[in-house]
Amino acid sequence: MKTNPLRTCIVCKSELPKSKLLRLVRINNCVQCDFSYKLSGRGAYVCPQIGCIKGILKKGILDKHLKLDVATKEASNILAYLTEYIKQRNDEQIKPA
Ligand SMILES: [Zn+2]
Repeated sequence: MKTNPLRTCIVCKSELPKSKLLRLVRINNCVQCDFSYKLSGRGAYVCPQIGCIKGILKKGILDKHLKLDVATKEASNILAYLTEYIKQRNDEQIKPA
């Protein structure tokens, strides 16, 4: 039986198969994007949509989930990186939740 575990976007709370979400993981007090879904560490999932990506930095949602103070500079780096990533991935036609 094939399992397709659902994960919840920390911003819009949509439940989607893990593979449809982006994983952010806390490693050594830094935030990394885990495209392999294999990095160990405290992780958070977010929809590959601009609205949700921006949302993770609002109200400290990401900080809360990763139990980490995400520095503003680091946060804007993540934002820029993910925004670019989503642009490239748009061909895949990921359906908004
Ligand atoms: Zn979302």
